[in-house]
Amino acid sequence: MCATRWLVVALAFVAACTAPPAPQQPSVEVRELADGAWHATWRFQEPVSGMRFARPARYFREDAWRVLTPGYALARDGDSQVVLGGDAAPVAEIQVEFPVDTRKFPREYEFFHRFSDGSVALYTGMLHAETLDGRVVATTVTVDPGPARALVTTDTEGADGTYAYVGNIPPLHAAHMRAVVDPGLPPWLAYELEQRTETFFALLAERTGHQLERKPLVLFNFVPGERDGYAYRGGALQGLIHLSAVGDGWHDADPNAVRAMLRFIAHEAAHMWNADLVKYRSGSPPWLHEGGADALSERILVAAGIAGPAALAAFDAEALDECTRQPELALSEARSDRAPYACGSLVASWSEQLLQAADPTLDLFDFTGRLIARARAGDGRYGEDDWFAVLKAMGAEAAAVDALQAFVRAPQAAPAWRAAAETWGNIP
Ligand SMILES: [Zn+2]
Repeated sequence: MCATRWLVVALAFVAACTAPPAPQQPSVEVRELADGAWHATWRFQEPVSGMRFARPARYFREDAWRVLTPGYALARDGDSQVVLGGDAAPVAEIQVEFPVDTRKFPREYEFFHRFSDGSVALYTGMLHAETLDGRVVATTVTVDPGPARALVTTDTEGADGTYAYVGNIPPLHAAHMRAVVDPGLPPWLAYELEQRTETFFALLAERTGHQLERKPLVLFNFVPGERDGYAYRGGALQGLIHLSAVGDGWHDADPNAVRAMLRFIAHEAAHMWNADLVKYRSGSPPWLHEGGADALSERILVAAGIAGPAALAAFDAEALDECTRQPELALSEARSDRAPYACGSLVASWSEQLLQAADPTLDLFDFTGRLIARARAGDGRYGEDDWFAVLKAMGAEAAAVDALQAFVRAPQAAPAWRAAAETWGNIP
């Protein structure tokens, strides 16, 4: 019993008695080797005959990964990428070695981002795996940065994984974010990204009335040699935004290229509120968070003084053109391509119009804040019904909200979208 020992080791007593040993979870540990390659170990409580990766990612592992556990090898099982033991005895530990791999796969996070000083960010989701029977899932990755480098990552990993930065770039600590900024970025671009992103977070917090629970981590890296001109790519994970500025064009400032990239960041920043602080209900149509973030992104640029009202009208008109190029579709069921973004953005603009008809001082930030408040008062999630309920609660005319809701749910032909959207004030 602990009680007889407390005088001897009081602290140990507290630890032993208040925290009964948790059942041991399978672990994944990853570390960098002296030659720049990486080594990962999966440890299971009981011997396994193989494991299945959560993300097949076009079987990219087959090109370069080396399974070190004797008798075990990479293989495919249907659409899955697996490690199989074949005739070998089950093992409690599987070890693999792999190089830094910065290839881009469609609709997938890059495994590694490389920074100009040679440091990297590793996507832990590529290491998530489960046993072949699916009973034991390993989704918590421990990254060992080694003695010469530091680890910068998010507080929690999230179901989809996170990026772990391993290197010596000192992270920037601002009021609303932490950031790791590639020292190779042209200084004007680094300054622009740091200042603007911090402003976007501040704006979203102030205008929605909700602070994030944790400061998001932002990773900016520079990939100059890949192409001429300007490009960028990136995305958001729980508590994290990453962005790669790609191409030699970024050595010169081009206002249009910068604005497009900032709009992208504003979209991802909006997700920290509409898909991270609160989540969309499982099975909800993606127009809710993608359209919501897209419509907010241009409004964030306007609020930050980067774009004017004419740019907002042009943005809505562009979304209308893009949306009306879609074949017949019910937005509630649209799952892929650009429809949830362009048509969803139109629904968000339309919603703002309905609010402003009731009260000209209301805007999409206020609406997003109310939607977040409604979700937080419940289970932290929202769905399509909540969107329309909040519109009504904020004073939008009920019949007009019902019409918008019917419109979202009915299979729409492109001309119907255009006819409806042209009745809104904002479309030129
Ligand atoms: Zn998005």
